[in-house]
Amino acid sequence: MEEKALVNWESLEGPFEQAVVVPEGDLGECVFFAFQGDRLLVSVEGLDHGGILPRAKAFNEVGLPFRDPHYLGARNGVHCFTVDLEAGAEAPEGMALQGLRELYGALDKATFQLAGRAFQIVNWDRTHHYCGRCGSQTDYHESDRARQCPDCGLLLFPRLSPAVITLIHRGDEFVLARNGRFPHGRYSIIAGFVEAGEALEEAVAREIREEVGLEVTDITYHSSQPWPFPNSLMLGFTAAWKSGEITVDGKEIVDAGWYSAGHLPESLPDGISISRRLIDDFLATHGGGPQT
Ligand SMILES: [Zn+2]
Repeated sequence: MEEKALVNWESLEGPFEQAVVVPEGDLGECVFFAFQGDRLLVSVEGLDHGGILPRAKAFNEVGLPFRDPHYLGARNGVHCFTVDLEAGAEAPEGMALQGLRELYGALDKATFQLAGRAFQIVNWDRTHHYCGRCGSQTDYHESDRARQCPDCGLLLFPRLSPAVITLIHRGDEFVLARNGRFPHGRYSIIAGFVEAGEALEEAVAREIREEVGLEVTDITYHSSQPWPFPNSLMLGFTAAWKSGEITVDGKEIVDAGWYSAGHLPESLPDGISISRRLIDDFLATHGGGPQT
């Protein structure tokens, strides 16, 4: 396939218009987010020039076996799709399959976010071929992003798992904790999944109590971030320390403490993450600029 420049979504005018049903008529050249497992098909050369994704009138032109394409929507008349590549399909010459997380920084922010959306849709589709209630094979819903059971009618939408992530502050200090699974020297703020039946503020308070043994007050929403690894929605908060001394369980959390602009750990979370945004925002108003 002839290599073509990537659409830089941020450079296009107007919002991304999400849609499910493919518009009628000639769509022209479309952009394809093609995944094998959690790896995205990208142009190797393009990685150095900001242009990375395959463009074609139809994905057949790329020459790789794939399953049902899903329409994602368009910006400025440029339509895009996501496709699930068959296992074992090898990237054509000049292209490579790369983990989505590794592509942060190589893709502009809007393209990365769209790639995350594409991955969640492909991943949902892969895992909902059968009805969870009666076991029948499911079909696509004709107008919604859903699969439906032809026998019992159960609708299966892409699943989102909300998680809360909180920066706990006390004066110019804030809490960082080290999860046993983190890379060497890495510390971050407190995160965990929201449980069924729980309000977000309750999840924030519970996670903090469980992970570092503190009580907090003034729980305040900060911002959110889709986190397609594989299907979370991260909801960021700040909270003020109210009482207690930091204690960790030594299993999930192996160490935690109070940090500040003048006293930071060896490694903070990557710029990709909302945790880093919360930390940088706090430091910007409490004695330090964004960290490198
Ligand atoms: Zn069913």
